Amino acid sequence: MDVPVPPSGLDSLSRQVRRELELLDYPRRPWVTPRKSRSGATIYDVIIVGGGQSGLTTAFGLSRERVGSVLVVDQNELDHAGPWLNFARMRTLRTPKYLTGPDLGVPSLTPRAYYEAQFGDGSWEALGLIPKELWARYLAWYRVTLGIPVEPETRVGAVEWDEAERCFVVPCEGRAGPRSLLARRVVLATGIDGSGEWRVPAAVKDALPEHLYSHTRDAIDFEALRGRRVAVLGAGASAFDNAATALEHGAAEVRLLFRRQKLVNVNAYRWAEFVGFLKHHADLPDAEKWRFILQILRMGQLPPADTLARAQQQPGFFLHAGSGFQSLRAREDAVEIVTSSGVITADFVIVATGFVTDLAARPELARVEQHIARWADRYEPPAEEQSEDLLRHPYLGPGFEFTERSPGEAPYLNYLYNYTFGGLLSMGFGGASISGLKYSAARLVSGITRSLFVEDSAAHYQSLRTFEEAEFQ
Ligand SMILES: Cc1cc2nc3c(=O)[nH]c(=O)nc-3n(C[C@H](O)[C@H](O)[C@H](O)COP(=O)(O)OP(=O)(O)OC[C@H]3O[C@@H](n4cnc5c(N)ncnc54)[C@H](O)[C@@H]3O)c2cc1C
Repeated sequence: MDVPVPPSGLDSLSRQVRRELELLDYPRRPWVTPRKSRSGATIYDVIIVGGGQSGLTTAFGLSRERVGSVLVVDQNELDHAGPWLNFARMRTLRTPKYLTGPDLGVPSLTPRAYYEAQFGDGSWEALGLIPKELWARYLAWYRVTLGIPVEPETRVGAVEWDEAERCFVVPCEGRAGPRSLLARRVVLATGIDGSGEWRVPAAVKDALPEHLYSHTRDAIDFEALRGRRVAVLGAGASAFDNAATALEHGAAEVRLLFRRQKLVNVNAYRWAEFVGFLKHHADLPDAEKWRFILQILRMGQLPPADTLARAQQQPGFFLHAGSGFQSLRAREDAVEIVTSSGVITADFVIVATGFVTDLAARPELARVEQHIARWADRYEPPAEEQSEDLLRHPYLGPGFEFTERSPGEAPYLNYLYNYTFGGLLSMGFGGASISGLKYSAARLVSGITRSLFVEDSAAHYQSLRTFEEAEFQ
């Protein structure tokens, strides 16, 4: 569903943004001393990997705090970061339209201001949920209006610390070929799967040839599913989005299989949208952090009401509760799925089981992950509160920085920030959810500015001692 772009009130809104930032511009003095390597190469203050909502908001936050040399790098085409224009198959955002976040408190930067500038007074009230394409366009307008430097179509490889230069070496593969950038601080804003990977369960991968299944993260040829029987494994929002999309492309039937006896219909994320949790989960003692997040995950994922309706209104849609898949086998060119409530036969399987947390799966961390502390290294949950995935979550410091598994082995990890969904247990909702952006981005930016100031405190003290600006002659 493409949203027409009316003649723009956006130009004047962009001017208003700049005016408001000018009004808010204090303190003004740049304070991070630019650095060069011994060979004269630029050392950025901060490189942000990931040009989605998290990366852009962080860059904006840093620019407001006068951190001057910041670069955002993203592997996708410009303004195509994240799921929105790639593999998201919903029509609208799943979260309510009134969530703010990237604006960091600047009213004219909010999604509402952006919408009303285009569609006029009263349009916002008439809007239900924000179409996903419009959210992607809002982020593009945000980038342009704030002049955030984004390098697109550039993939970041294994980050490494250079002790001699006291900075990270960030290998990049882009249109200009391979090269290395240098940065004092690196933020991984690599998305919801940024601390692991979208993973096809072994039960599927080991049993089926690749042409018989896809993960919801993949580019799926829905046209090729016309007239075929499709099985979807999982009952989160993406499961229903993909089921509906397959039926809208003419699939003969879609059977959605899930383990629980009935669909989850209470959204723990809605519960979480209050100041206390969003701003201060990170301040809780470990045992409390653990039980809050475990409870949220145990409450389960659910489709938003309109997503459920979109699938259920299609004649060929079938829900199979209490039908977790146990094993699968390929028979000729079909798939037999043995579930806890019988056998289902399909021509194609869509795996909607999400992602796993596994830092060892991250290319950016290949050279350092063995030194990174996980929750398993710091906390032993009571028997009734076990969760393998949560034990693999990184054990982050108060500003989203990684911490060392063995103190002293890799102190530079304090200069590497995890701003992905993997920060959920340590920090609560971070960037990989619009709900968490408002408070988490501010906490991350504050963690980075604190770290830069503390590292340079001797130089700042020296600048104080030599400060001679006369108040009067
Ligand atoms: C299908 C789907 C729907 C969602 N719907 C909602 C919703 O409605 N509301 C909500 O609040 N949340 C939603 N989320 C959760 C979350 O808000 C999104 O995942 C959002 O995209 C997170 O923003 P981000 O900036 O953290 O990550 P992303 O938008 O994913 O951006 C990260 C970027 O980093 C890039 N990247 C990763 N690794 C590298 C590398 N090594 N080198 C260079 N670039 C790299 C990625 O390609 C990506 O472009 C949804 C998630 C998914 C998957």
